[in-house]
Amino acid sequence: MSKRDYYEILGVNRNASADELKKAYRSLAKKYHPDQNAGDDEAETKFKELNEAYDVLKDEQSRAAYDQFGHAAFEGGMGGPRGGQQGFHGDFGASMSDIFDDLFGEFMGGRRGGRGGRGGDGGRMRGHDLRYNLDITLEEAFEGKKAQIRVPGSVTCEECHGSGAEPGSSPVTCPTCQGDGRVRASQGFFTVERTCPTCHGRGQTIDKPCKACNGAGRIEKERTLSVNIPQGVEDGTRIRLAGEGEAGLRGGPPGDLYIFLSVRPHTLFQRDGADLFCRVPISIATAALGGEIEVPTLGGKKVKVKVPEGAQTGRQFRLRGKGMPIVNTRDFGDLYIQVTVETPVKLTKKQKELLKEFEEGSSDANNPESTGFFAKVKDFWDSFQN
Ligand SMILES: [Zn+2]
Ligand SMILES: [Zn+2]
Repeated sequence: MSKRDYYEILGVNRNASADELKKAYRSLAKKYHPDQNAGDDEAETKFKELNEAYDVLKDEQSRAAYDQFGHAAFEGGMGGPRGGQQGFHGDFGASMSDIFDDLFGEFMGGRRGGRGGRGGDGGRMRGHDLRYNLDITLEEAFEGKKAQIRVPGSVTCEECHGSGAEPGSSPVTCPTCQGDGRVRASQGFFTVERTCPTCHGRGQTIDKPCKACNGAGRIEKERTLSVNIPQGVEDGTRIRLAGEGEAGLRGGPPGDLYIFLSVRPHTLFQRDGADLFCRVPISIATAALGGEIEVPTLGGKKVKVKVPEGAQTGRQFRLRGKGMPIVNTRDFGDLYIQVTVETPVKLTKKQKELLKEFEEGSSDANNPESTGFFAKVKDFWDSFQN
């Protein structure tokens, strides 16, 4: 029985990406899985075929070998027959890479080089994405700002516009590979393709390298970028600046720059989304008699808050619209003021006397909470007596 083409088995074309292969494999493997097809011999055969095909194609090296030599790559001529499909399956991964590392190492290394790939595009490579961590204060998050950030990195060389060749000259077609970027060498049974050693896969060589960049086409340079930080931005926000990452190589596109924002904790305000919280201590006199307290807001203005008579610790006052701005709107969150009644310390003799006098004149009605509490405690003890 002649073996079916691996791509055909997976139902993909020969240029399928690794992802496409995986997808095709997954959906077919589900369809033919023995669990779904108990006792169906045809499904079982298909399932085996499928696994074999995917095992070969999912690995870059063995896929390249299969593309070049077909099934022959894994049968005769490779140190003898492998004792049928089953045996071949078990030890395939290890042995293949051992053998092919020698032959294909350099060639595959070249292909893996960069996201931009290689070949007809003259070795162009997209620049890397960059990450920049930016710390801002809560006030800055409140107001929004234009931040100037200095980004170390590389930019396209202005002298040669990224070609790497001295202005006035231009890169020439590589004499070794005639612009292909690859060379072929015979090694016994095999014709091995590898990255051209002269041009390193670019397909072009530079006679007179640009003096500004030594032929690299990009130079190290710190850049200053202006970043717009919107009002109300949250901790952990990511801002993407397209095309502001590392310069591409040899005319490839630049990467992106990601700004990771963290908002520093504030000494007065805690934030929860668009709302702000602020704890304000008040004296026992203010708490008992009522009064007015002045509280800060993030916008920098002071606001007066009326504290009613008999305010207890934990009492909250809401100031509408005095919280954080909500990104991309004209709305604001609220500011919650929470009062804490402060017990006075370091009392003078006179103060102590006044407090004692005050206490003697107090009744249960002055302290409803403790009165209620001790009544409950009494009931609690009483329940043990019965
Ligand atoms: Zn240059
Ligand atoms: Zn070359």
